[in-house]
Amino acid sequence: EETKVVIIGAGVCGLTLATFLQKSGIHCIVLERRDRAYIETRQRAGVIDSRAVKMFKDWGLADKLLSGPAAYAIEYRLNGSPRLFISNEGNDNGTQSLFCTQQMLVNNLLRDLIDVTAGDIRFEVADVIIRNEKNERPQVTYTDESGQHQVTCDYIVGCDADRGISRSSIPEGVLTKYSYEYGYAWLAALVEAPVTGYPIMAISKHGFAAQLPRGPQRSRYYLQCALSDNATDWPDERIWDEIRLRIGDSSVKNAHIHNIEFVPFRSVVYSPMQYNHLFLAGDAAHIVPPVSAKGMNLGLYDVEVLAQALIKAVKEHDITALERYSDTCLTHIWNYQDFALWMADTMHDAGDPTLHGEFRQMVARARLDNLFHSATAARLHMEYQGGTN
Ligand code: FAD
Repeated sequence: EETKVVIIGAGVCGLTLATFLQKSGIHCIVLERRDRAYIETRQRAGVIDSRAVKMFKDWGLADKLLSGPAAYAIEYRLNGSPRLFISNEGNDNGTQSLFCTQQMLVNNLLRDLIDVTAGDIRFEVADVIIRNEKNERPQVTYTDESGQHQVTCDYIVGCDADRGISRSSIPEGVLTKYSYEYGYAWLAALVEAPVTGYPIMAISKHGFAAQLPRGPQRSRYYLQCALSDNATDWPDERIWDEIRLRIGDSSVKNAHIHNIEFVPFRSVVYSPMQYNHLFLAGDAAHIVPPVSAKGMNLGLYDVEVLAQALIKAVKEHDITALERYSDTCLTHIWNYQDFALWMADTMHDAGDPTLHGEFRQMVARARLDNLFHSATAARLHMEYQGGTN
């Protein structure tokens, strides 16, 4: 069997890339180890930044794929005192970031790709093996319930996240891994209670907490916790008590908690993001901590750069953009690693002196103050939030 591009992983990056290629008349096959129902119900990111919204508009897909309220304001609450940060980031390109969940985007991508444009997504595949030699056409083999299959292609794209097989197929010594461990984690609790005012980022001496919308009926609370914490450390009653304490609002009522997850804080970049005919995109190539709300958005940046480069390579036999793929993306990624580090340090250190001491606490508070006193600092923050920096 032959195709132009094999995409490994049907997460938000693999599906977006497949949609762009399909729309451009380039045949591709997506291989996914899970079933469709699993992918449809996975709830993760909640903000699509204005750069990504503009990208979907430019492809003529925004109306089909995106919906949700504009993410124009966030309440930074320091030891219970609210300060509203209003973002007019949309002024530059006429679009605003949206509170549109990753789950909704993924569901719309799946519906459009499978049910409308007859895209080729193969679920529940196993044993994916990549053959990626310099002077040969690449091949991907996999098994499903009908047996083993082999696909020959021109390009392979690894969108199979941190634990996938794409990156690990690259021989040792080719990639450099840059990583940073922050030393703490977030407990993420998806609850049956909407955000009633503005989304909150609460900086507190008891530890950081946030409440962010996840659709009209639900929200996700995040609570800073120890790396070693697990579900037995956090019974429901403790979660609600800590939320009330950290956001400084005793009127918050307990609600049903759908699930909790622990997210260790770390930043990782693999460089380069390509090897022979294989290109890495999204979490397969880089991780940012959730405080920056950039994980999905960085992946969407990668796949747009890659889609344009693949279209040029396939249609015009011009591979210059493809050869520059890694350099183009890494410039953007390092910029947003800086933003993620800034957000993580500021949001945690300004509250909790047990992390890095009282000196760093005062510095972090000064940085936070700057957002409200300096138009220049505010402007830069808005550019980062919008993804346009
Ligand atoms: P995934 O979405 O993980 O998709 C990878 C796919 O590859 C999966 O479907 C997997 O089953 C498949 N796969 C893996 N291995 C194989 C294999 N061997 N063969 C075939 N298929 C395979 N980002 C933001 O921008 N904003 C946020 O607010 C935000 N909040 C987050 C909150 C939480 C709790 C978490 C966990 C993440 C959050 N993120 C956020 C990060 C964001 O969800 C990820 O960056 C994003 O999902 C990456 O997309 P991806 O397509 O690279 O990987």
